[in-house]
Parts: sequence; C-alpha cells; structure tokens
Amino acid sequence: MSFQDKSIRCSDCGTVFTFSAEEQEFFQSKGYTNEPKRCPSVAKQGSQSDTQIAVTTMGPTPNVSRNMR
Ligand SMILES: [Zn+2]
Repeated sequence: MSFQDKSIRCSDCGTVFTFSAEEQEFFQSKGYTNEPKRCPSVAKQGSQSDTQIAVTTMGPTPNVSRNMR
C-alpha cells in the first residue's frame, strides 16, 4: 500500500496543510484511521483534550513514539 501527500483544510483556522505520505503511514502504523482535522500549528497551541491524536502525532517532537516504547 502506498500513500500520497494530501491537502487538508484545517477545521479550526481554515489553513490548507499537507498531510504527507509519511505522516499517513505513521498514522496507520499507530492504528489511527481518522485524518487530522487541524493544521499542525493550531494543534500545537492547545486543545489537547479535544484532538489529542492529531496533536501528539503532528507535533514536531516525537515524544509519543518514545513513550510508547
Ligand atoms: Zn489551523
């Protein structure tokens, strides 16, 4: 199975951001089937209880994968 970069419009600020093939693969490896609804910059600012999956996976630092170890 291959992934392609996908453009998604942020439901929060309306910015169109790229959900890259690499990120899609990462999402699937984690078992997430839903796409991120918000751009990384918005997700990074907060609402962690709201969109915890998008926030943790789209963030710049891979703390999640370290914690999963
Ligand atoms: Zn946004």
